[in-house]
Amino acid sequence: MTLPPNVHDAEPIPAAAREAIDALMQSGDLFRYTAPENAPVTLLETEFAALMGSKYALAVSSCSAALFLSLKALGLPRDARVLIPGFTFAAVPSSVVHADCIPVLCEVGDNYRIDMADFATKLEQDIQAVIISHMRGHTSDMDAIMRLCDARNIPVVEDAAHSLGTTWHGGNIGTLGRVGCFSFQSYKMLNAGEGGILITNDADLVARAVIMSGAYEHNWQKHSGGTDPDLAVAFAKWQNQLPLYNLRMSNLSAAVIRPQIPELARRVRDGLQNHDYVAARLNTSPFIDVPAPLGPEQRAPDSIQFNLEGLSEEETRSFAKEAAELGVKVQVFGLSDDNARAFWNWQFMREIPALPQTRAMLMKACDVRLPVRLTRAELDVIADILLGAMAKVKGKAAA
Ligand SMILES: *Cc1c(COP(=O)(O)O)cnc(C)c1O
Repeated sequence: MTLPPNVHDAEPIPAAAREAIDALMQSGDLFRYTAPENAPVTLLETEFAALMGSKYALAVSSCSAALFLSLKALGLPRDARVLIPGFTFAAVPSSVVHADCIPVLCEVGDNYRIDMADFATKLEQDIQAVIISHMRGHTSDMDAIMRLCDARNIPVVEDAAHSLGTTWHGGNIGTLGRVGCFSFQSYKMLNAGEGGILITNDADLVARAVIMSGAYEHNWQKHSGGTDPDLAVAFAKWQNQLPLYNLRMSNLSAAVIRPQIPELARRVRDGLQNHDYVAARLNTSPFIDVPAPLGPEQRAPDSIQFNLEGLSEEETRSFAKEAAELGVKVQVFGLSDDNARAFWNWQFMREIPALPQTRAMLMKACDVRLPVRLTRAELDVIADILLGAMAKVKGKAAA
């Protein structure tokens, strides 16, 4: 039998990055504000904004930093209530707490998307901002969300950390709300080890975020958009008015990311093909359900999520154990006592709500990594192992 593939290594970084890094090593020019212009970080911002079709981009140290700066740049007061989904990564409620705001959680359905009835109810509870987390690219009903939030003038921040390349009605995820935030951590589509970026069309907001990210004195002049009159007004208005949190990106990170941008379209295409192939195979089991996407959504997955149907908790644990023994790690979001995507483990929050619907989903939802570089044969090994593990737990009916 073919060995199960390594699903942890990322793709090699394109060779062009090495040349760029060598040049930086020679010059020692690692700080984004040393050069008067065209620093790698600034070039990355220009290229990423163009890629996404947004006016402005600000590269920072992580997506968490981008989320934090977004909330700060919105000018939310202390203890403002920020609505977030009950299914997301712990970084999201953490960024809310970091910004001195209060996370309010809403229910998420079996299909990993926000429960719109609960969202609409919670939105009436003194909410001052919303963070929509497109978990693993699963996109909630952004039409309904934007309609509800726009009608109340509530700003929407998109956490698109793990959703670069996903589209909604053909438009890029991250450009639908007031701000979009992305991650360059190694498990995401573009890998710099660490890093993040925010995009927006709002000059005032980006000026505030740029200054707070650590553009001290007049370093904001080294950002692109020097001829944009709205930006000039905004920077003049906020000069010396804001704290500097120093969440900048280093030129080294930008040099690693930039040569990966041309690879993105291929990664997105292969990721979706791989995902849909494995999804179709898994859906042949009556005990496995890969939820269908919403109509307007096209994902860029590098992992697959599926629900176990009709398994007890004991059988769920056996399924994960059997798969692990055969070489495929299945993470059931709610079944470990430290999973950072299970809301009851966010014990740094003042209050942890019950969210019975989200909890039930997390107890049966499985997560399996599916790096975009996998071959069809490797995908078959993974699908065979998962279906085989299910057959062991549920007998022949599963296969
Ligand atoms: C990875 C991730 C984050 C955090 O990104 P960092 O760059 O590591 O801070 C936030 N939200 C989601 C959904 C993620 O997948």
